[in-house]
Amino acid sequence: MRVAIYPGTFDPVHHGHVDIARRAAALVDRLIIAVYSRPLKTLLFSTEERVLMVKEAIAGLDNIEVASYNGLTVDYATKVGASFIVRGLRVISDFELEYQMALTNRKLAAHIDMVCLMTSLEYAFLSSSIVKEVAMAGGCVEQMVPSHVSRALESRLGEMGEGKGDEVGLISLRD
Ligand code: ADP
Repeated sequence: MRVAIYPGTFDPVHHGHVDIARRAAALVDRLIIAVYSRPLKTLLFSTEERVLMVKEAIAGLDNIEVASYNGLTVDYATKVGASFIVRGLRVISDFELEYQMALTNRKLAAHIDMVCLMTSLEYAFLSSSIVKEVAMAGGCVEQMVPSHVSRALESRLGEMGEGKGDEVGLISLRD
């Protein structure tokens, strides 16, 4: 059985992620979307919230599961019996990072390979940071994320109130 994991932070999941997951799932028997619990970045959503949002985003795609993990991605892949790690590429800078990660992972676990899928053109601009920044500035994210994620963003930002997002790393569409 061909098993792959698609790891990431998914804070929050957006259409670009779903597109990669859908396409990767067509290549394997079982795809596990692996939500990284404690990345080295400030998060807007908890692990449980991110997992639930991804689950809802891929509902109906039967060979995809969602789980959270900590520690080394290759260790998690080994634990679940995956032979591939799927990643998505948007721009050259993604490639540089993924290339370094792939070579590091190869050193750590030579039995696991990385498979990178190119973004679909309509999602090439899309990242979780961009989604958060647009939402925080009061913009509409309906074309970027599933509707349940759009509602979750609205409610989380409402709870945070004034100064929202000051502690979340953003790119900056406002300056
Ligand atoms: P990271 O894990 O780097 O924090 P994410 O969790 O946002 O980033 O993304 C997980 C994976 O999905 C990464 O491989 C990332 O390159 C890929 N990805 C994110 N956005 C897109 C997009 N718009 N198109 C294709 N791949 C994407």
